[in-house]
Amino acid sequence: MSRIFPLEKIRNIGIIAHIDAGKTTATEMILHHARRTYKIGSVDEGTAVMDWMEQERERGITISSAAITCHWREHCINIIDTPGHVDFTAEVERSLRVLDGGVVIFDGVAGVEAQSEAVWRQADKYHVARVCFVNKMDRVGADFYHTVAMINERLQAKALPVQIPLGSEKLFRGLIDLVEGNIIVFPADTNSAPVEEDEILLANHRQALIENLAELDDQIMLPYLNGQDISTSEIKAAIRRLTISNRIVPVLCGSALRDKGIQPLLDAIMEYLPSPLDIPLISATNPKSGQKILCLATDDEPFSALAFKTVSDPFMGRLTYLRVYSGRIKAGAQVLNSTMGKKERLGKLYIMQADHREEVEHAETGSIVATLGLKTTSTGDTICELTRPVLFETIRFAEPVLSMAVEPKSKADQDKLDDSLVKLAVEDPTFKIYHDKETGQTLISGMGELHLEVLMGRIFREYGINVNAGKPQVAYKETITITVESEGRFIRQSGGKGQYGHVWLRIEPGERGSGFQFSNQIRSGAIPKEFVPSVEDGVKAVLQSGALAGYPIIDVKVILYDGSFHEVDSSDQAFRMAAFMAMRDGVNKAKPLILEPIMKVEMTTPNQFLGDIIGDISSRRAHIEGIDSRGEFSSVRCLVPLAEIFGFAGDLRSLSQGRASHAMQFHHYEELPQSLAEQIVTKTGRSR
Ligand code: GDP
Repeated sequence: MSRIFPLEKIRNIGIIAHIDAGKTTATEMILHHARRTYKIGSVDEGTAVMDWMEQERERGITISSAAITCHWREHCINIIDTPGHVDFTAEVERSLRVLDGGVVIFDGVAGVEAQSEAVWRQADKYHVARVCFVNKMDRVGADFYHTVAMINERLQAKALPVQIPLGSEKLFRGLIDLVEGNIIVFPADTNSAPVEEDEILLANHRQALIENLAELDDQIMLPYLNGQDISTSEIKAAIRRLTISNRIVPVLCGSALRDKGIQPLLDAIMEYLPSPLDIPLISATNPKSGQKILCLATDDEPFSALAFKTVSDPFMGRLTYLRVYSGRIKAGAQVLNSTMGKKERLGKLYIMQADHREEVEHAETGSIVATLGLKTTSTGDTICELTRPVLFETIRFAEPVLSMAVEPKSKADQDKLDDSLVKLAVEDPTFKIYHDKETGQTLISGMGELHLEVLMGRIFREYGINVNAGKPQVAYKETITITVESEGRFIRQSGGKGQYGHVWLRIEPGERGSGFQFSNQIRSGAIPKEFVPSVEDGVKAVLQSGALAGYPIIDVKVILYDGSFHEVDSSDQAFRMAAFMAMRDGVNKAKPLILEPIMKVEMTTPNQFLGDIIGDISSRRAHIEGIDSRGEFSSVRCLVPLAEIFGFAGDLRSLSQGRASHAMQFHHYEELPQSLAEQIVTKTGRSR
């Protein structure tokens, strides 16, 4: 069957940037050149095409990853939007997972900022090939070479300029394309012809580019050492190879706002970023046998796709975004959600544009489509053909770090509120809801204050519910520190039907961030397989209720290795109870402790306020990692416990007359100092 776009002409990319670096503006310009926008929207006026949620418009930030399809020189470019604000890490993770390549935008004045660093590491994790765009070359203080140096140093990348700017700030007057060997002088400028120095700059930097490529790529090294000429197409091919294998990142520059450098950027996306064919075979497992299956990126294979985004639209219902990894599927077809083990029927299929949807008959390999009608599918689930069940690795999300009690202003809205919270939680895996049985409160938790604030805003706007929210509370966790073996026996054999459950568990501390892992190592048939899920359930019940102060237990490995059963009296319930007892005793013996979330904070301030700000942050149990000074500004990087950072934004403002800024992101969980842990245990009154 013929495709409109051959696979090698598809680019699934994300535009990744620190907030305010110019992602929205650049996307606008890309869409404008790729002829999908009729009128260029401007962020400053709040009409940007990508910012399609009302709230995003208000805040000027992009929260949800809309996917937009556009076309450039016979290529199909799917732009999967990634949010700039790190409070929305789930959005970043989910989009990175389905991208083949990324364009990372830096503000040419600020260079590499804290959030860019965080997203860069996430992109490393998913092996996303990248090109960089140093934006805002027209702004006072813009420095291309400094930004390139920062990419090398702070991101430990091999940044390779494939373009250099002619001048900067007001005198930003052109670009030198080192690959093609062209000098582009902006026509709007008065002195628009290249001058002799520009030619010298081109010759020197082009030579440096070739030398760099020769060092890294054998196919360039040999002709280079033999003194042969290296053609433009050989240079392009080498850059492409090295970019796709994540050994270099080509760097371009320009000004999105002034529409400078956007067409070369589109060319670079096409020339250097991978197509779905360049991505190593996607490995999946057979959900029944656990056997490995390789999904080939071709329409001839059975269909497989990953659901990477779910949106509950109050009018249309549930819209699911799919990235198709193999095969081809027709709208309305029956599919298997292999994560949930349930059959589903696809509704209509759409290719999403920023302002409208285009209905399509089929979803093809490599494409990004949205579908209505999937009922049980949520973010991270695999969808596949019934005849070939495959399961992709699910997307792992960070644990929420902050929680807050919520209640409707009017009691009559309680059901509506519960319903809307559930819908939002389906869309966003880092947003969780708990009902505290003791207090009767509904608690919501997420990745930061802004995250929860945005969700509260949506409940008001999209569902029309007025909500009272309590003060945000730190979401502490518990963990264990030593390995223990623990026995659980739940045996009742006097009168009536008996109960018999008996397990031996080995409970081990897991690596930080590993969550909960359970494995069954029973070999001898001591416990029949059918009872194992109940053992896991019993273990999980203890994880939820904690060991010291009632916080969830994380980073623990539980191995079921022995036990016994009774032909007649054993039941799921008995094994659940036995496991619960073994686990409860086990965690108490395994030296439990309380963990607190630590945030990575980066602030930038005029030098005169630096001393006061360091004084303030130091009083918050901060660990200062580094201070960089550049001109009149300094930036401070530190790790601070979340519990200490409340109110910091206000303090920072008053200490710096509103001139300092900061960014913050969850970094890791760490042991809470003993004295504070004791206070918490006393306060919660659940010490055993
Ligand atoms: P985002 O937060 O990364 O999406 O950034 P935006 O696209 O919203 O841009 C942030 C601000 O920077 C806006 O006021 C833009 O007008 C401005 N901006 C974007 N690109 C440029 C540029 O190339 N030069 C200058 N001087 N300003 C820019």
